[in-house]
Amino acid sequence: MTDLNNKREYLSTDVLIIGGGIGGLASVIKVKENNPECDVLIVEKQTTGWAGKATKIGGILAFLGPNNDADKFIDFQVHTSGLFLNDQELLAKYVKDTYRAIQQFSEWGNKLAKTPDGNMLSFPAMFAPEYSSTFIDIDLMLPMRAKAKKMGTRIIDKVHIVDLLTLDNRVIGAAGFNIIDGHFIIINAKATILANGSCGYKVRRFWSAGTGDGIAAAYRAGAEMRNAEYGNLYGHTVFQATDSGMVGSDFLVNKQGENLAHKYMPDRGPAGVFLPVKLAVGLEKEVAEGRGPIYFEPPKAMPPHGFSTGLPKIEEWLKRIGNKEKEYGISRDSKPEIAVPLHGETSCIKVDHDMKTSLEGLWAIGDTSYAGSALAGAVASPPGVCPGSGIMFAVISAGWAGASVANYVKGGPPVDLKNIDTDKISNSIYAPMKDKNSFSPWVAISALGSIAAPMRYNLRRSEERLSEAIGMIERLKEKLPDLYAKDPHYLGKCHEVRSMTLCAELTFRAALMRRESRGFHFREDFPEQDDKNWLKWIIIKQDKEEMKLSTQPVPINNYNIRPDGK
Ligand SMILES: Cc1cc2nc3c(=O)[nH]c(=O)nc-3n(C[C@H](O)[C@H](O)[C@H](O)COP(=O)(O)OP(=O)(O)OC[C@H]3O[C@@H](n4cnc5c(N)ncnc54)[C@H](O)[C@@H]3O)c2cc1C
Repeated sequence: MTDLNNKREYLSTDVLIIGGGIGGLASVIKVKENNPECDVLIVEKQTTGWAGKATKIGGILAFLGPNNDADKFIDFQVHTSGLFLNDQELLAKYVKDTYRAIQQFSEWGNKLAKTPDGNMLSFPAMFAPEYSSTFIDIDLMLPMRAKAKKMGTRIIDKVHIVDLLTLDNRVIGAAGFNIIDGHFIIINAKATILANGSCGYKVRRFWSAGTGDGIAAAYRAGAEMRNAEYGNLYGHTVFQATDSGMVGSDFLVNKQGENLAHKYMPDRGPAGVFLPVKLAVGLEKEVAEGRGPIYFEPPKAMPPHGFSTGLPKIEEWLKRIGNKEKEYGISRDSKPEIAVPLHGETSCIKVDHDMKTSLEGLWAIGDTSYAGSALAGAVASPPGVCPGSGIMFAVISAGWAGASVANYVKGGPPVDLKNIDTDKISNSIYAPMKDKNSFSPWVAISALGSIAAPMRYNLRRSEERLSEAIGMIERLKEKLPDLYAKDPHYLGKCHEVRSMTLCAELTFRAALMRRESRGFHFREDFPEQDDKNWLKWIIIKQDKEEMKLSTQPVPINNYNIRPDGK
């Protein structure tokens, strides 16, 4: 056992933002714009501006232009994607803010794709009527980090937050440790914004910082969760290259060259970049019946994408990738075999229309609360509304939370920490550093992957297999107190696997409770959508160390779009 927990750093701030990805940085800017006097601190376990999912991606942004019909778009979303589990009022609020968010990127110094005459490139989104898409260059967070700094924000990197501090049902800060030298950090804050992403179970390497730490901390602090069953996003990648980008689901073929989107989804429009359940189950069937492997075979002439105008970094990156592929990889003209890894994306913290959680003093934005906001409905986010909505939701939800928090913290000092038992928290955080412990976090992460990732548990669900998966999670949980961290880096991994195990349990227990099929939640034993009994959100909350599940009716009569069409 080391003495790391004896070396302590106490910090105090008006607003604590946990996570320095795109949502965290947008939150700072928005809090500061609304309340310039406010003291804001960001803590990030990697490096703010370089970390998070948006860092080296850039990519697609989806929005509703000023001349588009919002009602038509929302109608499509609720009928084909959210399947009546949307909070339709929040969806309308979101859609209204998308165009402004696009303009903001330019104001922050980001580069958006341009047409040859210098206007912003905008083209109809392939997957939803009325929606438009554009592209944003990579390294999009660096100008935002510079702006946050200029506005006077304190940024502390390499801090892994483990737990929230609570007093009388109010969140008053957080505790964690420095991943380089391991020292204990306690932060006192009037308001806290969770901006530390979703849970992806480390199945895909470039999703690996998303380990559900904020979701787990919020759950342990007593916050409500919603839509946890929608944490099962699957996509497809080039076989044995899980870092490869997603490709269009419309172009998947079997060994005989049969188009599988046409075969398994004949009535549907474009399949999207992620895998709809029907198609994913179809791919499994093809392989089981000897018609695998599955290949990606796009048409020879793909529509022009306009990537290369106004996006210097993406242009450079594509050139480098192209050269590498020529030298070592599969030729762009070949027909790559694909695999179907889990992306995860549990994002179930329940929030209201200002992104406030059920706990006083705590907000949750971006990938921590995308599903929990119920904006997207019966889909795992971020393709929720349409591909290109992950970055947009992070920025827009940060705007809503920023305004709400800026107002909340006006006046009064931060709450005193004298009634918080910091020794108890530090003992719990550093427990994996006991020499007698022996369970490797890597073994635990791999064991969890073999429960959360297989399609037979998380996508093609049934009571029998979900119960089997929950049994395995229970057995893994019994071993977690024996996790061993030889250094602060490993300590981070121990806490990540604890968070991810909790996220898996939330997802599987909610999936077991929902006895119907809807969107990304597919039950072989209840294959139909049951609007009579299941127009409900599943809410989960910790109650005396127990995971308590309940349901909340979707207030469908308050909304414009209803399953009966009335
Ligand atoms: C390969 C890929 C392609 C994508 N393409 C697109 C696209 O084209 N368009 C689009 O709109 N969206 C896309 N997305 C999704 C989009 O990137 C995310 O939805 C968005 O980045 C979410 O932002 P966020 O700030 O909420 O979370 P994140 O970007 O995940 O940031 C969370 C931050 O919190 C930090 N953190 C985590 N735990 C802790 C902790 N315990 N203590 C301190 N810090 C912590 C993380 O290190 C990270 O920096 C893509 C994602 C990936 C992975």
